Amino acid sequence: MSDPIKLAQELIRCKSVTPEDGGAIELLSSHLTSLGFFCQKLDFSGDDSYPVKNLYASWGQGKANLCFAGHTDVVPVGDSAAWRFDPFGGVIQGGILYGRGAVDMKTAIACFIAACARVLARGSLPISLSLLITGDEEADAVNGTQKVLQWMQKHNKKITACIVGEPTCNQHFCDTIKNGRRGSINFKLSVRGKQGHVAYPENFANPITQLNRILFDLNELELDAGNSDFPPSNLEVTSIDVGNNATNIVPAIAHANINIRFNNTHYASSLEQLVNGVCARHSSAYELNARCSGEAFLTPPGQFTNLVAESVEAVTGQRPALSTAGGISDARFIREFCPVVEVGVLNTTAHQVDEHVSLEHIEQLTKVYEEVITRFAAANS
Ligand SMILES: [Zn+2]
Repeated sequence: MSDPIKLAQELIRCKSVTPEDGGAIELLSSHLTSLGFFCQKLDFSGDDSYPVKNLYASWGQGKANLCFAGHTDVVPVGDSAAWRFDPFGGVIQGGILYGRGAVDMKTAIACFIAACARVLARGSLPISLSLLITGDEEADAVNGTQKVLQWMQKHNKKITACIVGEPTCNQHFCDTIKNGRRGSINFKLSVRGKQGHVAYPENFANPITQLNRILFDLNELELDAGNSDFPPSNLEVTSIDVGNNATNIVPAIAHANINIRFNNTHYASSLEQLVNGVCARHSSAYELNARCSGEAFLTPPGQFTNLVAESVEAVTGQRPALSTAGGISDARFIREFCPVVEVGVLNTTAHQVDEHVSLEHIEQLTKVYEEVITRFAAANS
């Protein structure tokens, strides 16, 4: 159990493309049980999404609880013929472990479990440990972490601080850890005009013209200049759709999709208001649907970020940078309960063909997690 490599291989061999579990939750549960963890398998369903297997495992009675959060589900393999090795083979060659989930993020789960095994083998701890594992982070994220957290609240399972094992490093091992994330909001915009023969402009109202004006103004918006913790917020038009193949017709309706990645100077609701204002300037017949996938959040630099940064430094000799860049993760849910820091392996091949991680980095990440557990125990004894 103190060998993260073997466990990472076993996990990769579970075919757990969301929403399939492939035996991953059961595998973790049996490993953690033999380590002395109390495992509760939590199957959640409903709310217009597929059923999901989750796991909450806890060890010890200490009041201060260090939690590790992760997901066993992975994204699809894409073109499987383009892979050097079976994406679910867990093959090791030349000191490198290949497979879907090697980076995002089965390996980190294996590293944390191995770290627990090593630390617990040295003696008892004054703290308690827990793992919050979901099988649904990469897709809907409806019956996953969010519902486990609700369940934990209901059953009075408190966590003091949380490590999330997402891949956070950009160029070197542990050059970066994450103490926040930008928020993300998607808009579906439809502008209605009046269809007509292109030769008779007096008889139609072209929605494409209106949509163009709206999108131009949206792109011109200066959302903010960023701050010491976050880069500037950014708006991108991701699709423009009319679906008109006729050359002599002006269509009745035009659609666009827009995404905004925003920092902690905005809320989804204030951005929705802002975008609505721009649309209303150019059209009286538009429809705007907004869906926020997560608000921006920040774990302010302090005790816990320092503890994690010092743990990294103890292993690598380098202090990692704190970053809030990149996509969203389940940390967006956990941050409502306790300080959360993300630290994992290099993110360069996440979601790619030939996703891989070096065995050296697996060992180093295990050492980082060992340091985090030891230092957290010392700070809470
Ligand atoms: Zn992930």
